[in-house]
Amino acid sequence: MSPRRLRLAHLPTPLWHSESLDRLVGCELWVKRDDMTAGAAAGNKIRKLEFLLADAVSRRADTVITCGGEQSNHARATALAARGLGLDTRLLLRTATGVGPTRDEGNLLLDRLAGASIRFIDPPAYAERARLLEAEAAELRTAGKQPYVIPEGGSNAIGSLGYVEAMREIREQLDLGLAQGREPFDVVVHACGSGGTAAGVCAGALHFGVAPQVWAMAVCDSRDYFERVVGRILLGIAALRPELGNPAELVVSDRDKGPAYAVASDAQKQFIRDVLRATGLVLDPVYTGKALFALSRMEPKPRRALFLHTGGLPGLLAQHDAFSS
Ligand SMILES: *Cc1c(COP(=O)(O)O)cnc(C)c1O
Repeated sequence: MSPRRLRLAHLPTPLWHSESLDRLVGCELWVKRDDMTAGAAAGNKIRKLEFLLADAVSRRADTVITCGGEQSNHARATALAARGLGLDTRLLLRTATGVGPTRDEGNLLLDRLAGASIRFIDPPAYAERARLLEAEAAELRTAGKQPYVIPEGGSNAIGSLGYVEAMREIREQLDLGLAQGREPFDVVVHACGSGGTAAGVCAGALHFGVAPQVWAMAVCDSRDYFERVVGRILLGIAALRPELGNPAELVVSDRDKGPAYAVASDAQKQFIRDVLRATGLVLDPVYTGKALFALSRMEPKPRRALFLHTGGLPGLLAQHDAFSS
């Protein structure tokens, strides 16, 4: 049986177009505004949480456990959405030293305000995150709680169904003529951080006639890593939704990751400024700014592309030092 879904996001999100952005990127570009899926919980993670939290609620969970970087958008969206359902949240957040920062900013500030219980861990501990999440769950069960573990980024088959359904939503918008004509796009382009978005988009894009190809722009790890991770999640999706048939072709690019995860190069930061000044569209330095920058450098360009704006605004606001000149 296919998992249930909660209605948490404001859908459908707009399909947005700007000729100034076409000029900056170098092709006809439609932007799926998933930065507008919600208020403070906005971004791509809330689409995954519609399925993941439905599963948690159906299992009578009272506490959700998940993990991510210190400025994880996924952790923030989970903490906010869980509160709305009366669930508690336990977060394992990675910092360079395993110690929390002296000031709570951006996503972390929202995690705290939502009352999430937070444990900071260092990168070696984070490498063991699946085991640590299970250990936290075992501890909570011993204390009489009913925990539900969500993997990093909400990236498993259940969470990825959010992006299968997003492809259905886009097909409906194409049929309404909202992107000047009903034809599929040449490619769907998006930032890739844990692979769940890429898997859901691939599983739905060909089936719903949105695009034959998906370009996942890695912001961390490597092309090999994401091909493996996405392939694994696709197998899980096929088990839940066998009617979807073949996935779209996946192209992972890891050429424009920038200096490090969550660190943008000067050229990437300048691109974010240029896009904002020319179009009013706010990108973030961790995900969307790097992904759209990567598309702007790709040769040859697609003729007509769809970019998923996956959110990330709180992460930008936590990087004021990187952007002050
Ligand atoms: C998490 C995230 C992504 C990446 O999505 P994955 O499914 O984790 O690959 C892209 N953009 C933003 C803003 C995100 O928060």
